[in-house]
Amino acid sequence: MIYLDNSATTPIDPEVSKAMWPYLTEEYGNPSSKYYTLAENAKKAVEEARSHVASLLSCQPDEIIFTSCATESNNFVLKGIVHYYKNKGKHIITSKIEHKSILETCKFLESEGYEVTYLDVDQYGQVQLETLKNAIREDTILVSIMWGNNEIGTLNNIEELAKYVKEHHPHVFFHTDATQVLGKIEVDLSKVPVDFLSLSAHKMYGPKGIGACFIRKRELGLRTKITPLLHGGNQEDGYRSGTLSVHNIVGLGKAAEIAKANLKEHQTKLLELEKQLVSALKENFPNIKFNGHPKQKIPGVINFTIPGINNELIIRSLKDEFAISTGSACSINEPSYVLSAIGLNVMEVKSSFRVSLNKYIDYNEINNFCINFKKTVENLMI
Ligand code: PLP
Repeated sequence: MIYLDNSATTPIDPEVSKAMWPYLTEEYGNPSSKYYTLAENAKKAVEEARSHVASLLSCQPDEIIFTSCATESNNFVLKGIVHYYKNKGKHIITSKIEHKSILETCKFLESEGYEVTYLDVDQYGQVQLETLKNAIREDTILVSIMWGNNEIGTLNNIEELAKYVKEHHPHVFFHTDATQVLGKIEVDLSKVPVDFLSLSAHKMYGPKGIGACFIRKRELGLRTKITPLLHGGNQEDGYRSGTLSVHNIVGLGKAAEIAKANLKEHQTKLLELEKQLVSALKENFPNIKFNGHPKQKIPGVINFTIPGINNELIIRSLKDEFAISTGSACSINEPSYVLSAIGLNVMEVKSSFRVSLNKYIDYNEINNFCINFKKTVENLMI
């Protein structure tokens, strides 16, 4: 099986599983217990992982809160901020092509009486600064714009958008969902003034079921107050109660450490594979159209349309040997709202594919995929 659906999830790096193993076996202490070595070891491992995540983002370790996934981080920030600051404003701004964990949370908040503006994106899937500027109101409390899109790979200019918001509307909070970009592009929160960021380990060769949230420290070194989703034993300084999942946290920490150390190498590998794939596809399908931004994009993620071909039929025909997708794994039963938002019609959406690469793929596998993809398309067209 050649796995080309790495925006859905990545394989675990063997170094990550190796680092996790002791915490699934002999080191089973609860990091919140006190005074004995087994607990201290667990606590030490958690704090070391926190430092690796912070280092990947260029922030302070105490600005990182562990959660169970990016979906939880997104829910936590959106619900937690608007609930805590409900007397300051009830207007939220996001974009039309966010992940469902943002869009469905916004829908839920609308049912509670909050107002949400869903910004249009341009033909490449980017939020333009002017569009954001025009949407900000007196009662806006939170802006949430994704760093990179999971279906088309387009990157937003988060630095520009966040700088504008923090300079001109300092009372408005800025959140970004960076789940798809970590380890693939540089994310330096000492330069990009977002207040909150969500991430997930399983998109960067880490385990499923663990994520994190960055919460920027503000004046006097205090972190922004957020109403928690989970109340209980006050773990994570009360932001997120629940016994910490030490083995998963260690896995996330290791994945972050590797992502930081290998960023350039990883980027180069993904870009080279992508170049090879794009040129082979262009050669074989003269009428192919690539979706998303041609340059400001996540390395290794491509989305393309081949007119007249049914994507589902092709993916099913290839399924035992190749894993590719029609788009997001989280909205697989509906036509892609992301592709519709950038102007594709229903027929084009049904003829579109996402191929997302990882660091273990080699050039022969890309060739092999292209040959089989072409064969399958030709067979189904007869
Ligand atoms: N945000 C984006 C952009 C994603 O691509 C995903 C997963 O596909 C998520 C959030 C949700 O991540 P998780 O699976 O960790 O909840």
